[in-house]
Amino acid sequence: MLTIDARCTACGLCLVTCPEGALVPARHRPTVVADRCTDCLACIEVCPRDAITEVPA
Ligand code: SF4
Ligand code: SF4
Repeated sequence: MLTIDARCTACGLCLVTCPEGALVPARHRPTVVADRCTDCLACIEVCPRDAITEVPA
């Protein structure tokens, strides 16, 4: 499971990086659609703010 915290600047990089379309725009920062996410971790690697963290489900 991923969380996106307040370090996010809504740059949108993770949205275009996710191969599963599991990140969707939301009011302040992207939301993770958990049942689409395959835990590939590409979004964590690409985020310039280290705002995405994997946490135990
Ligand atoms: S890449 Fe990081 S800073 Fe950019 S929108 Fe995604 S979570 Fe936010
Ligand atoms: S871990 Fe992979 S599949 Fe899941 S939201 Fe991030 S980029 Fe998308």
